[in-house]
Amino acid sequence: MQYLPIFLRLAGQPCLVVGGGEIAARKVNALLRAGARVRVVAPALGEDVHRLLLAGRIEHLARRFEPSDLDGQALVISATDRREVNEAVAAAAQARNVPVNVVDCPDLCGFIFPAIVDRSPVVIAVSTGGASPVLARLVRARLEMALPAAYGRLALLAERFRQRVKVALPDASRRRRFWEAALQGGPAELMFNGQDAAAERCFEGLLAAETAGPASGGRGFVSLVGAGPGDPDLLTLRALRLLQEADVVVYDRLVSAEVMGLIRTDAERINAGKASSRHTLPQEEINCLLVRLAREGKRVVRLKGGDPFIFGRGGEEIETLLEQGIPFQIVPGVTAATGCAAYAGIPLTHRDHAQSVAFVTGHSREGQGSSVDWARLVNPQQTLVVYMGLQAFPEIRDQLIRHGCPADTLAAIIEQGTTVRQRVVTGTLVDLYERATAAGIVSPALIIIGSVVALHRQLAWYHGQAEPPAQPD
Ligand code: SAH
Repeated sequence: MQYLPIFLRLAGQPCLVVGGGEIAARKVNALLRAGARVRVVAPALGEDVHRLLLAGRIEHLARRFEPSDLDGQALVISATDRREVNEAVAAAAQARNVPVNVVDCPDLCGFIFPAIVDRSPVVIAVSTGGASPVLARLVRARLEMALPAAYGRLALLAERFRQRVKVALPDASRRRRFWEAALQGGPAELMFNGQDAAAERCFEGLLAAETAGPASGGRGFVSLVGAGPGDPDLLTLRALRLLQEADVVVYDRLVSAEVMGLIRTDAERINAGKASSRHTLPQEEINCLLVRLAREGKRVVRLKGGDPFIFGRGGEEIETLLEQGIPFQIVPGVTAATGCAAYAGIPLTHRDHAQSVAFVTGHSREGQGSSVDWARLVNPQQTLVVYMGLQAFPEIRDQLIRHGCPADTLAAIIEQGTTVRQRVVTGTLVDLYERATAAGIVSPALIIIGSVVALHRQLAWYHGQAEPPAQPD
């Protein structure tokens, strides 16, 4: 290790910055964020530092650097583009044992600035020892993605409870296990959603349950997560994190194999939808399953294709959770309509073609006929997206034509959109079904009807894999 990583307490400490340009401004700001008293020595100030001076946040010596400027300083940063000035600052600092950083001159530095992920009070510093600042920044970007924005507030919550937990759970290893569970469970998720009061209540509940006995299941939490249409890169950051933290994942058959591959290896997986829709777990059973798993104290992810609130029965599942008092959150996902349209190069509301878009289901509720108001859907300025419409397409087509939709309206069907297996078949309202059948299109498939489909020819950019898709066995 070339450098020792440490965190300096600079609140109220005098710090010197030599130079008044743009880079100096950045360093001044970093010092101010740490609460330092900053003095800038420079014959002239750039705009940014000048603004800080006007705001009364810094002190300015309008002249060249002199070695005695370092007397009594906690640290010094030289941010000038003149080598001789930088060298003079470094030499004077060394003589006085004042820690020194010279911007962009590692050979003159006594300390270096790391790249920072700031979730104060949680702060992560990344350094490559000056080997590659760009690499340090790339590492930082990865950490930024991995850490929810509200991590700092979570730390403050932990701080508020720290003493009480210590008293309530005197056994150190039990206390550590409790903290691990709390900081990855319900209180954390609620905090990340900005529900601070609910997070506190949830924490109180956990602590009460834990002190009542370690076996109680008060830490359960359910996340209703949209898995998107298939391409795992379309997951939200939150969805990805939850998949990697889950104890159990209850998933639909619509969730792609690629997304399933991102689930934490030792998480339990429960299939809530078998190959044929007739053998799906009844909704009621899924609702009860989620409640039971949460009661067992598990972090449950209910993983649904696309977005949970678009033809996903997300609403029904949370009603039960609400009734049973199970804490939960909803994580939206890219819905099939937007995902498939994007990957098929069909802008759903291209302004030359459509001013609105309607999402409809081709599937009727068991035992009932379709309750879709077809007449209202026939509109040349509107794009129609039909979910679950493959089987019922002949009926949908006939209804639309009967209600005045021109038979030659363009239409497209997208199978396994956004995955490497994506296929797109286009045609008109009259011939699309035959074309799709001839091509062997199967579910999941999404139908887009409207003149925007004309743009596919020109805008199709995504072609999945080069070879034809493997035949299902
Ligand atoms: N909640 C989901 C939709 C569930 S309904 C969402 O927001 O996307 C299931 C229907 O969604 C399928 O029958 C199909 O019409 C459509 N669908 C979902 N994923 C798809 C995909 N990758 N490609 C094509 N259609 C898809």
